[in-house]
Amino acid sequence: MVYGGIQGGRIEVICGPMFSGKSEELIRRLRRAIIARQRVEVFKPGIDTRYADDEVVSHSDNRLSATPVANARQLLDTVLLRTEVVGIDEAQFFDEDLVEVCDTLANRGCRVIIAGLDLDSRGRPFHPMPALLAIAEVVTKSQAVCMVCGAAASFSQRLTGGGDQVELGSSERYEARCRRHFEPEETRQLELLRARQAVLRVPRSE
Ligand code: ADP
Ligand code: MG
Repeated sequence: MVYGGIQGGRIEVICGPMFSGKSEELIRRLRRAIIARQRVEVFKPGIDTRYADDEVVSHSDNRLSATPVANARQLLDTVLLRTEVVGIDEAQFFDEDLVEVCDTLANRGCRVIIAGLDLDSRGRPFHPMPALLAIAEVVTKSQAVCMVCGAAASFSQRLTGGGDQVELGSSERYEARCRRHFEPEETRQLELLRARQAVLRVPRSE
């Protein structure tokens, strides 16, 4: 694979729905860089405390130490100048500044590997992922297994909860779905509303 860039600096993005193996793939690439004796640092958004505060954890319980940061600027302030490879998990929980920060790191010669959800549970682009995908040299889009039919899944179905874009949770709250079985939250709420209205309109038989 030819990447080019400033002294090896480049951006790689791993995207896809929940359970598609993004964290596993991120950890795999970072472990290989560690084996190659490159200087690696891993970051995650401080808001993501689902499995551990200071580790990137996959659903198959693969783990790697990571530094939690409050925002993208803090990531740039924290990363050591000598670091050669920067890993970032759950990039969708960062602010838009992450785009400029990753660009700066790559221009400095860093290999930046980013994992994150490309779509939210409404099936809409999850910022800042679209801009990261656009500026990346290499993009990997992974798929999970649809929990309804077993087909390849590209969507994250929220099973419970409110309408906020950011709601932390794992398999108790989300599952992977294919396009056929994905029900975007707004559609579900609209259907519930219509069903309720229909019930109200049905004349009682007694
Ligand atoms: P992501 O970071 O994309 O959410 P992870 O790397 O944390 O995904 O987890 C991937 C692992 O999740 C798989 O190797 C598998 O063991 C497990 N898994 C659980 N549910 C599913 C599913 N519906 N489809 C694929 N893998 C699943
Ligand atoms: Mg993950």
